[in-house]
This record gives sequence, structure tokens and C-alpha cells, in this order.
Amino acid sequence: MTAPNSQALFDRANAVVPGGVNSPVRAFKAVGGTPRFMVEGHGPFLRDADGREYVDLVCSWGPMILGHAFGPVVEAVQRAAARGLSFGTPTPGEVELAEHIVARMPPVEQVRLVNSGTEATMSAIRLARGVTGRPVVVKFAGCYHGHVDALLASAGSGLATLALPDSPGVTGAQAADTLVLPYNDIEAVEKTFAEHGDRIACIITEAAAGNMGVVPPVEGFNARLLEVCRTHGALLVSDEVMTGFRVTARGWYGVEPVPADLFTFGKVMSGGLPAAAFGGRADVMAQLAPAGPVYQAGTLSGNPVAVAAGLATLEHCTPEVYRRCDEVSRILQEAVGAALTAAGVEHVVQSAGSMFSMFFTGSAVRDYDDARRQDSARYAPFFHAMLDRGVYLPPSAYESWFVSAAHDDAALDRVLDALPYAAQAAAEARA
Ligand SMILES: *Cc1c(COP(=O)(O)O)cnc(C)c1O
Repeated sequence: MTAPNSQALFDRANAVVPGGVNSPVRAFKAVGGTPRFMVEGHGPFLRDADGREYVDLVCSWGPMILGHAFGPVVEAVQRAAARGLSFGTPTPGEVELAEHIVARMPPVEQVRLVNSGTEATMSAIRLARGVTGRPVVVKFAGCYHGHVDALLASAGSGLATLALPDSPGVTGAQAADTLVLPYNDIEAVEKTFAEHGDRIACIITEAAAGNMGVVPPVEGFNARLLEVCRTHGALLVSDEVMTGFRVTARGWYGVEPVPADLFTFGKVMSGGLPAAAFGGRADVMAQLAPAGPVYQAGTLSGNPVAVAAGLATLEHCTPEVYRRCDEVSRILQEAVGAALTAAGVEHVVQSAGSMFSMFFTGSAVRDYDDARRQDSARYAPFFHAMLDRGVYLPPSAYESWFVSAAHDDAALDRVLDALPYAAQAAAEARA
């Protein structure tokens, strides 16, 4: 289906923005066609520059858990903006947001607010290295922690989609202090610590992986990571930027309470404006400047408007919101599975709380190698069949789908009506 106004905007964008977008996945490289330029969103719907309406199953990659333009959040932002946009001083709102996060997350005694998930993980790793005096970071293949130089090795979705094993511009020295292990492989972790334990500052892991498609940790994996870290004097950094305050009121910690030393947050707690956070044990956080020697700063960190959006969002993330997200997710997962089965397409649907994705493969996906063995050529026709019928999915086979509490039955019906056509398109795709 053509989208002339989006195409005209994309042409203009391509002249002045590399690839026409400000974050690679938005360019539709993996699915082809014209990226839709969105002009408006209300509840579960987005409207593009050609006036077409979509049920949104990306939800800004997670933040919009209450739906688009949720009244109380918009009002909180308007009130904050009317009082001034940024002061470069402490403000009351950031104290409230920090208190709210600490109240929701028992192992988090102190938090520092930043502007993006990337900054949160970058800072958490600097802190872990500063506190331990050790250089090495262990990460898992297929886990994405933002575009931090040291963490861009085997980093999942964006890179999987572009088929870049690594990024030019990340030096050998930066990559050399990063050890990449297969996700869900505790033996590999134990072996690595047996060899390099005294040089490892931290393990960073997605609390439940959502950036290679959704791959939850196997039973006991996260708990064992913490034990291994404790044994060897390293820290565990649980990256809850995607899962935090989305899959339960406490994030993945609410599913599996593993008290990591540090946690990173973003997405839902931002309310849709640029805000993120990292936090954890008070004795570790006390090493951050100005309390301690590890430097970390930001001109706009704790920005009053962003903080107002985040706080209003968290305040409205009630048990009812999580119940509805779980219900919407369950209905969609069953419908996706049923449509693909009816069309005879081999697949698995995997979930972590209300986050889920499908893989075109015959058996459960436990790690990045499994994920990449899927028949991803089936995804583009599936995606476009949904898009043509007014459903906006992630434009990559390696991304989670996100729901909101605003997804009502009308929105769900549109998705359910479209799925059989998409499944048929996937069935007809040439592998
Ligand atoms: C999105 C994400 C990040 C990066 O956050 P940005 O705000 O895009 O920098 C880090 N970690 C995880 C697990 C994420 O999903």
C-alpha cells in the first residue's frame, strides 16, 4: 500500500538525516517499504501523515503502557512545562520519582536519573568498574543494552536486523574488555568466571531478554548469575529498561525476585519523554559523584517535564493496568499462534510477562543462535499484511510486541481480523 505523504517526508528526511531516521529500526530496512511518519496517537491507535489509522503494537518500544496521549500524563506534562522547562538545579519532582522507584523496587535503595537507557547502562557499568577496580564486563549475545561502545558486541535486534556483527567505530580495546557469552548458558558463565573471575567487574543481563525477540531466562538462570557474582566479587547489573514497571509493578523483579546489585530502568518510567535511571545498593551508589569518586552527570538529567511524565505514568500503573496488559497479551498470543497454525506456518510464540514475540521456527528459542535460525524471510510479508489492515507491528522479526491497557476490544478485533491474512502471507513467503 502506498503512503505518499510519508514517502515525501522520508525523501526530505533522507536528505538531511542519515538513512532518514533517528534510530535505525524505524527505517523499515528489515521489512521494506515506506516508514510511516506518525502525526498523532490516542489510546491504542496511531495516525500517520496520510491519515491512516493503526492499532499500535509497538507502543514506542514499551513506554506507552497507558496508551497514547493518556489524559493525566499529558496534563502533568502541561503543568510542569508551564512552570518552566529546565533549571539546572535540583527540583521536587525528581525526588518524588526517585522515591516512587525505590518504593516499588526493594533492592533499589538509591537511584540516579539520566536521559536514556543507554546512559543508564553505560553509567552502571562505569560504576561497577569503579567500585570493583576491575575492567571486564560480561554480557550475553542477543542482549541489547543501548548503544554503549563496550556493549555493542552481539547486541541483538537492531544489529541482527542490519546483519552487523559489530559496529565500526568501537575500538578493539573497548571490545576487549567485554566478554560475550550465550544467553541462558550457566556453564559458560561458570567457566568464564573460573578463568577470569578476578578481572570481572560485572555481569550485565536483560532481566528477561526482549531484544532478540522475547527469550525469557530459564528457571534459576538469573539467581545463579547473582551467586556466581557474589562468589567472585563481581556485581550483577539487571537491565530492566524494557521490563521495568511493564511486566509487573516491579518489572521482571516482580516475577523473579533476584536482588541484583544494580538495576537499570527506562521506557515505562519515562512516560514517553527522555528519562531513564539506574540504581541499587546504597553502598554501591554512594560511590557516584558527588558522594563518591565515580563521575556521572547530565545537563538535563532529572528534567522536570520528563520527570512529571514518568511519575504520572507510574502513579497510573495500577494492578488493573497490569491485569489488562496481561489479558490483551494472552489474547494476542493465542490468536497469533492459532492463525499461523491454521496457515501451516512453523512457529513458536514466546513471552515474558505481557511482552511477547513469535519466531518462525519449530522449537523453543533459548539464545541468540536459536533466534537467528528462524525463517525471518516470512516476517516482511506478515508485517505488511498487518500494516495494510491497520495494525502497526515492530518492523523487525527480532523485536518484542508491546501492548497497553488502552487496547480495548475494538482495537483487538482489528488485530484478530487481520491475523489470518498475515499468516497466509507468511505461509506464501519464499524461505
Ligand atoms: C531500550 C533498551 C535500552 C536502551 O535504552 P535507550 O533509551 O534506547 O537508550 C537498554 N536496555 C534495554 C534492555 C533496552 O530494551
